[in-house]
Amino acid sequence: MKHILKCTVCENWTMQELHSCGAKALSTKPLKFTPDDKYADYRRRAKEAA
Ligand SMILES: [Zn+2]
Repeated sequence: MKHILKCTVCENWTMQELHSCGAKALSTKPLKFTPDDKYADYRRRAKEAA
């Protein structure tokens, strides 16, 4: 499975952890969902308790 990385500086896509511009490239995790997941878990627990 390929994992594509995104340069943290120039925001170009790359397959290498160190982009050719010298900046680090990170995998694009769905960071947007992280806070939502916490609330979803909280809601799930609240539902079970009710
Ligand atoms: Zn770059």
